[in-house]
Amino acid sequence: MPRIPILEAEDEPRAIDTHAHQPTAEFLRDAGGEMMQDAAKKFGTDIYTWDYDAMLEEYHDAGIGRAVMLGWDAETNTGNPPVPNDYVAEVRDDYSDFLIGFGGIDPLKDDCIEEAQRCVEDLDLSGFKFQQIAQGFDPSAPEHDELWSTIEDLGVPVVFHGGNSTLGAGSPGGRGLKIKYGNPMLIDDVAAEHPDLQILIAHPAFPWEKQQLAICQQKGNVYMDLSGWLPKYIDEQVLHYAGTVLKDKVMFGTDYPMIRPEKWLDQFEEYTDFSDEVERKILWENAETFFGL
Ligand SMILES: [Zn+2]
Repeated sequence: MPRIPILEAEDEPRAIDTHAHQPTAEFLRDAGGEMMQDAAKKFGTDIYTWDYDAMLEEYHDAGIGRAVMLGWDAETNTGNPPVPNDYVAEVRDDYSDFLIGFGGIDPLKDDCIEEAQRCVEDLDLSGFKFQQIAQGFDPSAPEHDELWSTIEDLGVPVVFHGGNSTLGAGSPGGRGLKIKYGNPMLIDDVAAEHPDLQILIAHPAFPWEKQQLAICQQKGNVYMDLSGWLPKYIDEQVLHYAGTVLKDKVMFGTDYPMIRPEKWLDQFEEYTDFSDEVERKILWENAETFFGL
C-alpha cells in the first residue's frame, strides 16, 4: 500500500491514473511490435502480459479508483496493427466503473475523420490519444487541421504524447521513428488555433520540459501529466511548477504497464514534498475537472 496519508484516508479509492495502456498482447506485442521489444530491452526487462482483473486489483490495492485506457493506431507509420477502438470500448464496458476509454486515431489514414466521429458517437469513447513519434506526424501541419476541428466539435479532450520516446530505443535509426514530432511546441499551434479543444500533454516532455511548462502556463486549454517517469527522475522545475503556478493543471499518470502504480505512488511520497491540497489536485481533482467526472 502507498504511504500517502490522503489516499489512505479516503473510503473509496479516488486517485485517477490519466495514462494507462493495455497489459495484454493487443498493445504490448501486436501494436508494440519490435519497437516495444527495444524499449523493454532498454529497461532490462522482457515483455510480460496479464489480464484486466489483475490490473483492477493492482490499482485498487494502490488506492487508485479509475484509469484512462488509451487506444493506439500507428499502423501507417509502423506497419503494426492498431489496438482496435472496438476492443477499447469492449474492455471499458466490462470495467465501466474503473476504466475511461480513449480512442486511437491514425491521422495518416484516409478515414481518420469518420473514425473519430464513430469513436464518440457509436462507441461512446471519452477522448483520443495521439503518439506523434510512433505515428510519424507533425500535429501543427495544416493537413491535420480538419481532424482537430472535428474533435473540437465532438467536445472531447485529446492526449498528445510529449517529449522523447523509448520506443525503438537503441536500435539502428531508432526503427525510423523521429523524435522531433514529440516537441510540445508543435502542440502549441494546435492549442492556439483550437481554443475549445482541451489538450493534455502526456509525460514531462524531456528534453523540452521548459517549453511544455510555458505552453501550459500560457494556454488555458493545455494541461500536462506526470506519466512515463518515476517521480525520482522528474525534472525539478516540473515538480516546482506542479506545486505552484500549474497546481490546477498537472495530473498523476503512470504509463501502465511500463510503470506500475504502487511504485509510482511510493516514489511520489518519498521524493516530493507537496501539501495535502496539491497532492489531492495532482492525484484526482485536476483530472476530475479535465475529464468532466
Ligand atoms: Zn504511454
